[in-house]
Amino acid sequence: MPYQFECSADHCQFIIRSSSSDEVERLVRAHVRMTHNGRIAKADIERETERVELA
Ligand SMILES: [Zn+2]
Repeated sequence: MPYQFECSADHCQFIIRSSSSDEVERLVRAHVRMTHNGRIAKADIERETERVELA
């Protein structure tokens, strides 16, 4: 079951889905750094990451 992360920032449409939680974490960190000029804690990434069924 893949992992899915949706950015919770206002007006942000970023969504990532991957079979690897490590990859999700890496891409989310890159997104937050580049798009929001900020950082996100691992705990926040884990809290926002859901396991989803493939469509
Ligand atoms: Zn975002």
